[in-house]
Amino acid sequence: MPEGDTIFRTARALGRVLVARPVTGFRSTYPMLTRFDDDTPLAGQTVERVEPRGKWLLIHFSGGGTLATHMLMSGSWHIYRHGERWQQPRANMRIVLENSEYIAVGFRVPVAKMLRTREVERALRIPPQAIDVLSQEFNAVEVGRRIAAHGGEEIADVLLHQEVIAGVGNEFKSEICFVAATSPFCKVADLDAETIALLVATARKLVKANVLEDSGDLIVTYAGTQRRTTHESNPGASTWVYGRRDEPCRKCGERIRRRIQGPDARVTFWCGRCQPMPDGSDVDG
Ligand SMILES: [Zn+2]
Repeated sequence: MPEGDTIFRTARALGRVLVARPVTGFRSTYPMLTRFDDDTPLAGQTVERVEPRGKWLLIHFSGGGTLATHMLMSGSWHIYRHGERWQQPRANMRIVLENSEYIAVGFRVPVAKMLRTREVERALRIPPQAIDVLSQEFNAVEVGRRIAAHGGEEIADVLLHQEVIAGVGNEFKSEICFVAATSPFCKVADLDAETIALLVATARKLVKANVLEDSGDLIVTYAGTQRRTTHESNPGASTWVYGRRDEPCRKCGERIRRRIQGPDARVTFWCGRCQPMPDGSDVDG
């Protein structure tokens, strides 16, 4: 599942090649999109803005329409110059947007909608900017309040609720809890206000750090001495705990544990010594 930082980077890359340029061609395998294009041709319109909002990528056109795509597990956008060979088979193509210089291709994008721009937030139930970790309007106090409202749930599960804090995915969840020295299994009701504030600040810091210019597809929370490349085969090479089952904790040397957690059965990694439960109890992993 692409996390918030992946959507952010995709939006930035698409923005560079699409914004302020007239659209010269549009194609899609989705009838709903082509009907919109038949009715309000995109060719001749200009792309005004490309923005990440929660897990949606929005492309706004000058005619008042917005193309919203959601990648789920499989989708990706590629950018090519005219005549350049595509990195995926044509059969995977779902959406093509062209201008005089570039071709943006949405491969296997599973969800795509064309909406009137003014209807987008309501239609897609997009989280407000105040709770989006990558938004400039992010409001840490509001997010802390929303977390505290889930007192009966374990903190790592609550960090995945998009209506509480948007943009934190499953990999970041474990990293945030480690950096904030908090057990992922701790009930929110057992966390003090300072710890909740620390978790919120850590979430913002870690996710934001991953939208730097040279970030690849893996998250980076631990720089270490190893230079990370986008072809790194071990997902744990750039993290504190995620993907590091049975490896030594980078702070204390204890064995990193792994466990399936929560109603959605998502994997969680943690260090039992650096992230104790408040009552001292142990969690198997
Ligand atoms: Zn440790």
